[in-house]
Amino acid sequence: MTRLAGKSALITGAARGIGRAFAEAYVREGARVAIADIDIARARATAAEIGPAAIAVALDVTKQDSIDAAVAETVAALGRIDILINNAAIFSAAPIVEIERADYQRVFDINVAGTLFTMQAVARHMIDHGIRGRIINMASQAGRRGEPLVAVYCATKAAVISLTQSAGLNLIRHGINVNAIAPGVVDGEHWDGVDAFFAKYEGKAPGQKKKEVGEGVPYGRMGRAEDLTGMAIFLASDEADYIVAQCYNVDGGQWMS
Ligand code: NAD
Repeated sequence: MTRLAGKSALITGAARGIGRAFAEAYVREGARVAIADIDIARARATAAEIGPAAIAVALDVTKQDSIDAAVAETVAALGRIDILINNAAIFSAAPIVEIERADYQRVFDINVAGTLFTMQAVARHMIDHGIRGRIINMASQAGRRGEPLVAVYCATKAAVISLTQSAGLNLIRHGINVNAIAPGVVDGEHWDGVDAFFAKYEGKAPGQKKKEVGEGVPYGRMGRAEDLTGMAIFLASDEADYIVAQCYNVDGGQWMS
């Protein structure tokens, strides 16, 4: 269990959910991690629970000065950044005729610009220090195909897949591998918001959408954050050295159904 021994990772949006599971898994594999999140109180609590191999870093991925400060703070505390997971994102849903420009801009700012400019800041650090680093972007099955009520979120995740391809082809010249993971539906607190959207637009009772979605997964249940950690470890490990600009489905078969 030491495939990431000696490595330092910056994981955005890691105060809870999938990002937190990545942080826990990386620490088990011997890495030190920066839990970077806009919810700094929760990030601190998460880092304290994980233990001395984890630190908490304040980060708002929509603000360049915050990205630069988070990278500098992580480097000061951990010495370097070998791995970045761009995991921070928000969900949004509405029928096309009700989408508001402000919501569109907020979701794109966090999910797309946040991914791009955090990737840029960490890539500059890796290039400046000759680090053969790894960048993993969190895409989604929502980026593979549209959904009737989820146009903006789907478009942001399609953009993340596209950014991964371009950045992957560009940054491999510097020895930096960029790849993405596309989960299907994954259980977690994130679903509180999703359920609220579908209660509003489809008249679903609380928990009903989640139950229906879970039953539709070929594997037989919704994903769990822990289902994704193996891929996140593999993509950061030496075994993935020749993998460039790819996006992997980890979805219990949802892409095929
Ligand atoms: P989550 O909502 O539980 O956690 C997201 C984290 O990001 C939170 O801790 C939040 O505070 C943080 N965050 C939000 N805005 C931020 C900002 N501006 N700057 C920094 N941090 C910010 O989400 P999750 O369900 O764990 O999902 C994690 C990733 O996986 C996301 O990229 C999501 O799109 C993707 N994903 C999730 C699912 C799912 O069903 N949960 C499915 C496919 C893909």
